[in-house]
Amino acid sequence: MHQLEIELRDRLRRHVEFLASDIGERHVGRPDALEAAAKYIESQFISFGLPFSTQEYSAQGIAVRNIEVEIRGSDRADEIVILGAHYDSVPNCPAANDNASGIAGTLELARRFAQAKPSRTIRFVAWVNEEPPFFQTQQMGSRVYSTRCKERNENIVAMITLETIGCFLDSPGSQTYPLMGLGLLLPTVGNFLAVVGNLSSRGLVRTCADVLRRETTLPIEAQALPGIIPGIGWSDHWSFWEEGYEAVMFTDTAPYRYKHYHTPQDTPDKIDFDRMTQVVLGSEKVLVHLSEK
Ligand SMILES: [Zn+2]
Repeated sequence: MHQLEIELRDRLRRHVEFLASDIGERHVGRPDALEAAAKYIESQFISFGLPFSTQEYSAQGIAVRNIEVEIRGSDRADEIVILGAHYDSVPNCPAANDNASGIAGTLELARRFAQAKPSRTIRFVAWVNEEPPFFQTQQMGSRVYSTRCKERNENIVAMITLETIGCFLDSPGSQTYPLMGLGLLLPTVGNFLAVVGNLSSRGLVRTCADVLRRETTLPIEAQALPGIIPGIGWSDHWSFWEEGYEAVMFTDTAPYRYKHYHTPQDTPDKIDFDRMTQVVLGSEKVLVHLSEK
């Protein structure tokens, strides 16, 4: 591993450890912890020289917020590429993989683009309230956010969510699927990164997969499938589909591979930081491509 990759890996690990070990479970039932996570994300953005803005709303009587930074496009600023992740967790789960991993990736990508001059605008967003009971409701952070995008008539040309990107396994049968039979068609070793979208996002799925295959050593499994198949819409990209935007999820497939999903055992020691680093580096290439094409 190159020295710069080692440094990136170590920073990713520190983000995950802070969120999952120092803070722990973070949701409206533990508002102080949720606030601590938000504050941590904001302080990181500031340390990269990126002023953040927030979108606040109330959920179960608790003030919550999405947090974003924007790298303004140079000549096509009104065409917007979004990458983000959720920072909340389910109760009784430190949520190292789901989804401190995605937030760590989002933060480090924001750092890497802080001085960039992309053609299109890039936004990095940390969403609150992805998990139940808010999941796929109007109080899901990304749903509140995508509603505002539509109200403002924003031209979101591509949206990527990093959802649970730290589990990679090499043993036969380590990968399962939501539908019987998919294992006959798709890999049964859980060593790949999945790029998942609905049928309307198939162009974006293909573009992302092409770049990831070219630029990373990770096996890439790309699928554009009907959004109603279990798992396909299980993160913040769903919220953008609801407004008609093209949106995809980069994921290790979460419960279909990671046995600690939504349990107290979802701790940082379970994360494969080497391969997670490759996911982040690949995502950087995807963002470069999407913001310049
Ligand atoms: Zn999640």
